[in-house]
Amino acid sequence: MDTQDLTVANITGEDASVETIQRIKDAKEKLGDKLIILGHYYQRDEVFQFADIFGDSFELSRKAALVKNAKYIIFCGVHFMAESADVLTSDEQIVILPDLKAGCSMADMANIEQVEDAWEEIASATDDTVIPITYMNSTAAIKAFCGRNGGTVCTSSNAEKIFNWAFEKGKKLFFFPDQHLGRNTAYKMGIPLEKMIVWDPFEDFGGNTEKAIQDAQILLWKGHCSVHQHFKSQYADMFRKMYPEIKILAHPECNFETIQNADFVGSTSYIINQVNNSPAGSKWAVGTEINLVNRLAHENPDKFVTSLSPYSCHCSTMYRISADGLASTLENLLEGKVENQIKVPDDIAKDARLALSRMLDISAK
Ligand code: SF4
Repeated sequence: MDTQDLTVANITGEDASVETIQRIKDAKEKLGDKLIILGHYYQRDEVFQFADIFGDSFELSRKAALVKNAKYIIFCGVHFMAESADVLTSDEQIVILPDLKAGCSMADMANIEQVEDAWEEIASATDDTVIPITYMNSTAAIKAFCGRNGGTVCTSSNAEKIFNWAFEKGKKLFFFPDQHLGRNTAYKMGIPLEKMIVWDPFEDFGGNTEKAIQDAQILLWKGHCSVHQHFKSQYADMFRKMYPEIKILAHPECNFETIQNADFVGSTSYIINQVNNSPAGSKWAVGTEINLVNRLAHENPDKFVTSLSPYSCHCSTMYRISADGLASTLENLLEGKVENQIKVPDDIAKDARLALSRMLDISAK
């Protein structure tokens, strides 16, 4: 495979029409200070260019909490992110997701009933104190569960700090929904793989014996990201054969083998900084969502930046947010119509806020 093939594999989607772009600009101008648009790094460029605030899920949750004056917060991301924004902003502010089908396959892999059932089973198998930690990529109901039960939330930026905090409070950590982030983080902290078990929500006791639960330090929910699962360790070998000087840079949602075979591992923000701060002429194969990789390649023309997968790995749910959808959302607001509001029920929001606030406090230390 040559560079030409890789470039072709990296192409996703089409640009918005000039007319749509103008509709967004006009509506944005008319809405003025009443509006703020948050954009996740994985958004396609036709949407991302209109973000007033952009970042990964951690940065966006932190910044959403600081937005005080805007009445409308348009979240160009996925459902769980908009829920977190609603939890962290005031009751008067209205959070809108331009397309309600913009979910997250990983977040859908753990529902609150399954987590509550698992919690009871774990309590019946061990007397150890277990701290529940959920990845940001989970429903508000699951964040609320963690808030209620002495746990918190983590992101790929702060996972190690949060795990350290949890181990000061308890003997075991129950982590959901991404087994890979959990395993990669714990292993980096020195916890051996034998001390980690996978919890399959469709099996009694997660498919484990009571003894295995008692012996484990970390219980990892059997979930994963449908995008990051495509970055295989063998692709790292393939790129190194083609470009001996290339560096493999991967997000910790990739599987354990890929992470062990990477030169650098870190969150979305870490990945961006790593490429942006590298010298001209450096070569990078990046294991994360393709819109971000393409943007990095575009913004670093003096470097070779390509996806770690030869196949286009885009987040199909993020991709549901389009410039046309954004334009319609804004024009509806101009007509006084609020569509696709994300509103977390008060009782869930209260406990989810507790979990998120804990995370922000721990991260700030
Ligand atoms: S990239 Fe993966 S974890 Fe992120 S929103 Fe898409 S499916 Fe969810």
